[in-house]
Amino acid sequence: MGAPMPEKHIPVMVDEVLHYLNCRGSGIYVDATLGDGGHAAAICARLEHPGLLIGIDWDDEALERAGRRLAGFAGRFRLLQRSYTELGSLLGELGYSRVDGILLDLGVSTLQLTDPARGFSFRRDERLDMRMDRRLEKGAAELVNELSEPSLAGLIFRYGEERWARRIARRVAVYREREGPIRSGAELAEIIKEAIPAAARRKGGHPARRTFQALRIAVNRELENIEAFLPQAVSHLAPGGRICIIAYHSLEDRLVKHFFRERSRRRCSCPPDLPCSCSEEGTLQLLTRKAVRPAAEEIALNPRARSALLRAAERRVLITEEGA
Ligand code: SAH
Repeated sequence: MGAPMPEKHIPVMVDEVLHYLNCRGSGIYVDATLGDGGHAAAICARLEHPGLLIGIDWDDEALERAGRRLAGFAGRFRLLQRSYTELGSLLGELGYSRVDGILLDLGVSTLQLTDPARGFSFRRDERLDMRMDRRLEKGAAELVNELSEPSLAGLIFRYGEERWARRIARRVAVYREREGPIRSGAELAEIIKEAIPAAARRKGGHPARRTFQALRIAVNRELENIEAFLPQAVSHLAPGGRICIIAYHSLEDRLVKHFFRERSRRRCSCPPDLPCSCSEEGTLQLLTRKAVRPAAEEIALNPRARSALLRAAERRVLITEEGA
């Protein structure tokens, strides 16, 4: 077993984030996954008037904790309970069309994971839930109990990259039939364990890990949200502004990698007599060729850092924007 999960959320790769965002005193920055405000506090500490941090999280409890953590930086931040998928309209409402840096630190915060009331854990006998935003309609229990066996198998395979997805879905379906709805994380974890052959169970960590990841991604629409966010983020960056994203598994990281690559290869070929759509959408200069990983010392201190993959890019200054 690795080090136990701390009860406090420790931000991941803070120095790297500050470096890649190139935080400057009077800039406008967005932390689109504020969480407990760890990165936000480090950014606020670098700001001076009229610099501002706009913090977004869809979890009311996270916002409350972040508000307390940032209390000493009054006047330098604004916090909003929204989904980062609404970034464009939210900036419009606040009166900002372009910002200097945007951070996205994906995944779940330590406090969401460890709070029994939030239902993320397969170790405890707590109601399966996993909604990061408690305004979402369906939690993990609804998915597990309402999806058809093939849909459940597909979901576990796609979002969990679980090779035993079909066997797990079968076992769930049989259990539901016999015992009624599955209620707790521990109950589901036991069903998963029984579905995976003993030899395969011996490697790859807890046998329920991949299925739980899949349910979490589906409940919170995590991949769709990232896809909706990326183009909005780039189009609201000022030329020279930076975007920095920390992903925690390959499905997330792949979306970021492909999007960054596509935007870094795009060249303006708009007809000169029409408004240039590339200058509105934005092209990127990559700042990281490969994803940056945390140093071994950080991983030893913070288990959540173990799977972190950071990528950063800068919005290009287009020739048309320079007035040439
Ligand atoms: N960087 C933070 C930790 C972020 S944890 C810190 O240093 O404290 C990830 C956070 O992203 C969680 O609080 C989660 O609620 C939030 N989140 C995930 N998806 C979101 C979405 N679509 N919109 C807004 N917040 C989201």
